[in-house]
Amino acid sequence: METPLAFPALHASHAGIWMGSSDGPVKTIGKGEAAGRAAETPMIMLNAPLVAQRLGYADLSGLDVLELYAFIYPARFAVPTPKGLAKALGLTAPATDQEVPPFLLMATRSLLSVLGDAAWAEREGAWDSAQALMRLRWPWANLVLAQLKKPERPERWLFSRLPEWEEAPPRTPPRVVTLAADAVQERLASLVGGSAETRQGQRDFAQAAALIFAPRTRKGEPNMLLAEAGTGIGKTLGYLAPASLWATAADGTVWISTFTKALQRQLVREAKRLYPDHETFKSKVVVRKGRENYLCLLNLEDALQGGFAGRAAILAHLVARWAAYSHDGDMIGGDLPGWLPTLFRRNGSTALTDRRGECIYAGCPHYKKCFIERATRASVQAEIVIANHALMMVNAARGRDEQNRPSRIIFDEGHHLFDAADSMFAAALTGQETIELRRWVIGPEGKARGRRRGLSARLADVASYDEEGGLAIEMARVAAEALPGEGWLARLGEGTPSGPVERLLAAIRAMVFARDETNATESGYGLETELADPDAGVVDAAADAAIALEALARPLTVLGQRLEAMIADPPDWLDGSARARVEGATASLSGRIDTLRAWISMLARAVGPVDPEYVDWLGIERFEGREIDIGMHRRWLDPMKPVAEIVLKPSHGVLATSATLRSGGDWKNAEARTGAVHLEKPATHFSAISPFDYTAQAEVLIVTDVKKGDPAALAGAYAALITASGGGVLGLFTAIRRLRSTYARIADRLARDGLPLYAQHVDPIDTGTLVDIFRDDPHASLLGTDALRDGVDVPGHSLRLVVMEQIPWPRPDILHRARRLKNGGIDFDDRIIRAKMAQAFGRLIRSAGDKGHFVLLSSAVPSRLLSAFPSGTPIRRVTLEEAVRSVKSGLSSDTNLRQEVVNQLEESNPI
Ligand code: SF4
Repeated sequence: METPLAFPALHASHAGIWMGSSDGPVKTIGKGEAAGRAAETPMIMLNAPLVAQRLGYADLSGLDVLELYAFIYPARFAVPTPKGLAKALGLTAPATDQEVPPFLLMATRSLLSVLGDAAWAEREGAWDSAQALMRLRWPWANLVLAQLKKPERPERWLFSRLPEWEEAPPRTPPRVVTLAADAVQERLASLVGGSAETRQGQRDFAQAAALIFAPRTRKGEPNMLLAEAGTGIGKTLGYLAPASLWATAADGTVWISTFTKALQRQLVREAKRLYPDHETFKSKVVVRKGRENYLCLLNLEDALQGGFAGRAAILAHLVARWAAYSHDGDMIGGDLPGWLPTLFRRNGSTALTDRRGECIYAGCPHYKKCFIERATRASVQAEIVIANHALMMVNAARGRDEQNRPSRIIFDEGHHLFDAADSMFAAALTGQETIELRRWVIGPEGKARGRRRGLSARLADVASYDEEGGLAIEMARVAAEALPGEGWLARLGEGTPSGPVERLLAAIRAMVFARDETNATESGYGLETELADPDAGVVDAAADAAIALEALARPLTVLGQRLEAMIADPPDWLDGSARARVEGATASLSGRIDTLRAWISMLARAVGPVDPEYVDWLGIERFEGREIDIGMHRRWLDPMKPVAEIVLKPSHGVLATSATLRSGGDWKNAEARTGAVHLEKPATHFSAISPFDYTAQAEVLIVTDVKKGDPAALAGAYAALITASGGGVLGLFTAIRRLRSTYARIADRLARDGLPLYAQHVDPIDTGTLVDIFRDDPHASLLGTDALRDGVDVPGHSLRLVVMEQIPWPRPDILHRARRLKNGGIDFDDRIIRAKMAQAFGRLIRSAGDKGHFVLLSSAVPSRLLSAFPSGTPIRRVTLEEAVRSVKSGLSSDTNLRQEVVNQLEESNPI
């Protein structure tokens, strides 16, 4: 029998606020009353931070149904909306805002009833966890414990429940095999499925992709294929066919690297066709991400045992519930709901991962259960490893395991290789970076909680055994005192820098303010100036800082050598686990030494000649007018040079593919952006055009009468288009400021018409969850910036209109200017713009049944940029009124949603 709940439920949207209880009707209330009631009585709500934002009352707290869901169903997916929760719980979704409060009460009762259900799969650990949460005053703890039966036997602790990974023998190098054309086609046909026909474009693509698996003819000269395959070709299965065939025949591993999480997820789905049996799939396909994505069990243990306090401690317990049921421990794009950390305002979630490279490897009591170690080991044995571009580059640059280097690589979303390389090979000598190094060497300052320790505590046994090593640790500790410490930004603001590096940062700050010509001082954005002809203040401070950094690099290098010597000639006490710990310390030490060397070389540049390989500048990073970091930056003029050396040349076969590989340019452009231009052996080219009928499926409308620089006109245009389309709009902005102003002007009125609007940089929801919400509701619209231009894969009705606020001009910063100069001036700009427009357009038509409009709110679109759109796509220059009419009438050819949306339009009668 259902228990009546004593608590009222609260729901707030842009259209209003509603409150309901078990024994009364739902009432509409005002913001002040809602905030007052919430302060007096705990209320049941869904996504408290979002409700708080709608009420304009940041301190709002209560009984968040999503937290209860995360406790009861850890690691189970749910879209965090009433509709999404209803779907996850098998309940009827509320049809209106008014129906949400009773629905929340019903969902709560349904969730609480699970606690007494004998078939509840996630019962183990719940009792102990609820007891701990009770002590932390989790608002749900009493209600949960009232329903939970105390287990008859004590529950196993999380850390004893997780499985251990097995050490496997090293893998032998792959056999030499040649793939027969008909075998590739057969594998493709079996992947596509018996009933579906493979298309010629996909067959040709698979055959071309097989080229990269041919035996290499010369060391350092991989078989490289550049393949541009229009949307809808089916390239994923196209390359999985030869890749899986080769991996089995050669007993080797193929690494498939993506840029976005959306594609990574899609790849996992597609790879299941290769190995339908779950256990086989788990052993053959492994997803690898950067270590900062995974839960660190040692950090979690520390958080559970008092390292975290207040809400962060509650989050740690919910994460511990999840860890016991998680497939792979990935906290960022895996099965931890993306919305969970945001419910806690991200308080503590990053401290649960290994972001700062503090892993102590085999010295860790959870080493044999560590998610990161498990994924690393599994990938050695796998046939297919699904990774991302950043990880491929980090591993290549820092990886020590030569034997398990990726040798056959498929870069999907290959048009992003350049950007991934650009960030990976960037160097920044800034306040934030240097203070991080200081903490790594000395340990945290003040009364920091947690297990973070300095170098001497982490390597105490080394110091006591090896005198030279111990001395090096002490010298490094003393030298690190020269790095910026807590409060450095305030000291710089007050003109009282402490130590040589802070003095350098102060000189950089003064020079940037003196020379900045962007006039961005007032706008609150970042400031920068070239590192050219530096003033005497910077030159002198750079020389002192270089001496200080050298004084730190030297003992760290000696320490590294001592550790290497210890591994080569191990003392008695260096058992397996101590050895692994020393190896771990050596790896993180060498990363730090590399960073120090890069900084010293940048400082040499400040006082010496220009190095044409790099672009150097000084900058002040600011957020909403506040300075957050200051320093010196370095980028490769062409970051694909190091990629060619450390990733491409050592491999045997590489495929770089994308729907927009040439970025609206020619193959020369693709060669440059993928690094193929730096290889001796020329890359092979392949292209296949999209099978979609863009003439019938899409239309590009260039709106000529929305005044530039008029926020009201821009917002009005968005509102009109969203209303005309009945939602289903992805709105792309090039500036967060304009996105926020547009959202603030139109969200309420659209919500009143039943058209919810969500926005990146506004809603307290992570981007992945925003896309899930958007995908789940055909009436919703989503506004966002860069990450949405490429990471949204929403086939079908949920996305039927893409609106771009203006031409995505590249940011005219120092780095861009240098690359523009080297790569053909305006042509270089055009290629970048066309690529961005092509990617944005690519969101629209994802399957043969999709239809939609692409609207560009910019009167001045040069015709030369229009080749960004697939050939055959109708393009018209129109007024806003005409665009609205087209968007409305465009629905007439749609099927499912047509009548519903047309009815709604007639009721709301826009412009
Ligand atoms: S081995 Fe390292 S990353 Fe893994 S749980 Fe231990 S400290 Fe964390």
